[in-house]
Amino acid sequence: MSDYPRLSSLSTGLRCRCPRCGEGPLFKGFLSLRDRCPACHLDYGFADPADGPAFFVMSAVGVVGMIGFMIFDFTVQPPVWVHLFTTLPVLVALCLGALRPFKAWMVAEQYLHKAEEARFDRPADPS
Ligand SMILES: [Zn+2]
Repeated sequence: MSDYPRLSSLSTGLRCRCPRCGEGPLFKGFLSLRDRCPACHLDYGFADPADGPAFFVMSAVGVVGMIGFMIFDFTVQPPVWVHLFTTLPVLVALCLGALRPFKAWMVAEQYLHKAEEARFDRPADPS
């Protein structure tokens, strides 16, 4: 880590790039992480954001989406079926669009702060 300058986690996250070099792609699929960075060979084994990105994106889009839904509903007063073809696709698109960069940002934060699962060492047996 010392050979690489500290990069902004927000910058590498939004670009979905390696948190160490900022060059290599982080994902091999839509949300699947690569095993390692193809540019600097950083092992992505440390990265385990679990359900964090889904929870935060769902919560944020839920709040923003409900505000948009309420503004649309109160001003236009459309029939309910209109929401099925307007509000629902917008909510799904916002969730899918935000999930990837948000997951990359959380991985970058894990890298910068060396976050990992807690390990509990047993104290030495006094006998
Ligand atoms: Zn890299």
